[in-house]
Amino acid sequence: ALRILDDCINCDMCEPECPNGAIALGEAIYEIDSAKCTECVGHYDKPQCVRACPIACIAPDPERVEDDAGLLAKYLSLYPQ
Ligand code: SF4
Ligand code: SF4
Repeated sequence: ALRILDDCINCDMCEPECPNGAIALGEAIYEIDSAKCTECVGHYDKPQCVRACPIACIAPDPERVEDDAGLLAKYLSLYPQ
């Protein structure tokens, strides 16, 4: 999963771009729900929130490193066929 860094300026550019609805405004800044973040696997080649963020403050979460197989499994659990 990705995470939003403290530099976030709450511009709201990323939230509507997430195909999983994983981004929401938290207590101070926008936050990513790691249970819903597939790093866009299953939807897009690249993380759409990273593309949208004007200040590049979205980065891989070192505490939630996931490989493509795990991300695809998360995608399939979010969207049961
Ligand atoms: Fe949503 Fe994709 Fe960003 Fe994860 S990487 S928060 S799934 S837009
Ligand atoms: Fe914060 Fe970047 Fe999202 Fe804007 S696009 S709300 S700066 S994480």
